[in-house]
This record gives sequence, C-alpha cells and structure tokens, in this order.
Amino acid sequence: MSSNHFKSRLPDVATSIFTEMSLLANQSGAINLSQGFPEFDTPEFLKAAVIDAVQQGKNQYAPSSGLPPLLEQISALINRRYQYQLDPHKNITITSGATEAIFVAIQTIVHAGDEVIIFDPAYDSYAPVIQLAGGRSVHIPLSAPDYKVNWQQVQESVTDRTRAIIVNSPHNPTGTLLDHQDMLNLQQIVCDNDLFLISDEVYEFITFDKKAHQSVLKYPELFERAFVVSSFGKTFHCTGWKMGYCSAPEYLTNEFRKIHQYVTYSVHTPSQIGITNMLTEHPEHIDELGTFYQQKRDYLIGKLASSKFKILPSSGTYFLLVDYSNISDMDDRSFCHWLTTEVGVAAIPLSPFYEQPNTNKVIRLCFAKNEATLDLAAEKLCQL
Ligand code: PMP
Ligand code: GLN
Repeated sequence: MSSNHFKSRLPDVATSIFTEMSLLANQSGAINLSQGFPEFDTPEFLKAAVIDAVQQGKNQYAPSSGLPPLLEQISALINRRYQYQLDPHKNITITSGATEAIFVAIQTIVHAGDEVIIFDPAYDSYAPVIQLAGGRSVHIPLSAPDYKVNWQQVQESVTDRTRAIIVNSPHNPTGTLLDHQDMLNLQQIVCDNDLFLISDEVYEFITFDKKAHQSVLKYPELFERAFVVSSFGKTFHCTGWKMGYCSAPEYLTNEFRKIHQYVTYSVHTPSQIGITNMLTEHPEHIDELGTFYQQKRDYLIGKLASSKFKILPSSGTYFLLVDYSNISDMDDRSFCHWLTTEVGVAAIPLSPFYEQPNTNKVIRLCFAKNEATLDLAAEKLCQL
C-alpha cells in the first residue's frame, strides 16, 4: 500500500546510467565497456592481507576516522607524491568509497539556498547530493574535443550565494586533466570569493604521457579551503570494496567527521588492515599504475585505428571518448542502446552527465579490461 503523503526528495532522479548500461550489457551478453570497473583482480598480496585480517579476528569496529596505521600510511603516500605534510590524525578520514566522501563533504559545507558550481559532464552523484543538502547546482558545460574550463566564465558564475566549486581531475568521463595554470585560476577564484572546494581526485594515480596530476595537495593556499577525495577502488582494482578517504584541513575535517560518524560511523576493518600492509609493502603498485593503464589506452586506440570512430585524447582515468558521427545520426543514448543490443559492445553516453540537452555524438569506453576483451570489442566496433 502506498502512502498519499509520500513526496520524493529526488523527484527528477532516475536509475544511474551506469546501472542502466551494465544491466543491458548483461541481458544482451554484450562486452561491457560501459560502467567503469577493472576486469582484472585486486593484487594477490592485498587479497591475502585482508583474508589474514579476517582470520586473525580483526572483525570489529575500526575507529570512526580510520585505523591509525592506515591514516599514517596515507599521509606518507601524500608526502611522497605531493611533497605535502598532513597530520594523519587531524587531516585524513577513511570513508566508504569516494561516494561517501563526496556526500559528507557536500553536507558539511552546503546550507539551504547555497549554490555550488559544477562542470558538465559531471559525475552523477554531485547534483543530487547538493540538492539533498538544500543547495542548488550551477552547471558550467564543457565541450568536446578538449573540454577546457573557461575560468572567466566560472568567475562570472559566482554570486553571493555561491558556497563551493567541485572539480574532478583526472576527469571522468572525458579523461582530461587540470593543468598548473588551471589550478592557479581555480585558486584565485576560490580564495578571492571566500569559497570552498571539493576536489574529486579518484583517478589521481592514472595519468599518461608523463603529465603530472595537479593535486590540490600541491597548492597549500587552496587546500586550506578544500576537501580532497580519493578512492582505493581505482588504485587497487577493488571497486567493490568501497574504500576511500578524504583529506582536509583540521577545521573542515572536524565538521566532516561529525557527519561521517552518522553516515557509516566507520569502514570495514579487515580492508583497512589489508590496504595498510599493501601501502607499506608494495609502494611500486601505485607508481606503476599510470604506465599500466597507458598501455591499455594505447592498445585500444591501436585496435580502433581502422574504425570510423574519431578518437578523442585521454590524458588520465581508464576511459576513452570516441565520436561516432561518421557512423550514425542517433542521439548518444539510443546509439549506446543499439551498440549494446545489436553490436554487442556496451558504452556510456555522455548526455546524462549534462544538465542541458547535449547533442554531441560522443560516447565513453572503459579500457580497464584484459587485451582479449579489448580485442573482441574492437573487432566489433571496427565492423561499423
Ligand atoms: N568520483 C568519480 C569521478 C568516479 O568515477 C567514481 C567511481 N567511479 C567515484 C567518485 C566514486 O568512487 P567510489 O567507488 O570509491 O565510491
Ligand atoms: N564511477 C563508475 C563509472 O564512472 C561507476 C560507479 C557507479 O556505478 N556508481 O563508470
């Protein structure tokens, strides 16, 4: 029996495009290059370390902010990669994936009526979470092929209600990176207008062609107003574990933790122990991740060379955008459905990541797959 009094908090939100396309891929038996997750397994050492922790009886609540040894290892990792020293116990919180970190960071700073600037194509969780906090997302569209941010336009979009900006670099779905000049422009706007920043850096270790990831942790003035969101899911091929963390200055971390304790309280203890050991014993895994994925990117690009798709540049993440305008006039969602059910390859359309209708004929392929899978997919795509 349904209630007449029920009113949706998210009336305009439907099932996520990732769920939609993965479901269709499974139903159709298509090769799934849609939802972003690795086909290969998490490293043996890490799996064994988590299993060992379970066997050792480390199965009760961890401290709400995270296990101290893990916080210390993350702080050492940040120091090694970004030459920035955080206090592990005052600046870092372990979360249930980046998804929780984004949710809690937004709840921490957004009050009713606040505006938050986001860039389209935007990761699907940002706008609904802003809405749940009573805020309003202000969308700045970015366009193919380079998806560059026009910082003048960002400055002009700031009003006296603007509370924060959300950035994502390396960027899902476009594979673009913010460069040093972008970061300086961002810093100026955030600081001059007394804003906060949420920086979604879940693909921070996956950059290509010797391009450096410009973490907010390299910009101390900006970090003073920021939440930096990271995810072990991307780094250790374990998206299903939902392990992430948030780095922030102490005054923001204190408020963040107040909310985190009522969202999950704490995160899976054996995984925290396993990841601590992995960070300690195998630092090379992270350092080799960019090269590992660059080979995958280049492999797929090589295989698609004879296709009618136009390949857009990918400087990071495990995604590649391709333009299908030489193949079809269909809109991108219809094209992805057709590609999945008729051709046997599932991809993600870009229009669901835009607030305004978008007519770009661009789709996203995930190349976090074994070569045999990429071979099969490319063979089908080259026949179009
Ligand atoms: N942000 C971006 C840009 C992502 O691509 C993802 C997941 N693919 C997330 C956040 C969520 O990460 P997690 O799975 O760790 O919650
Ligand atoms: N972030 C993943 C992607 O971009 C999907 C995560 C999800 O399904 N929520 O494909």
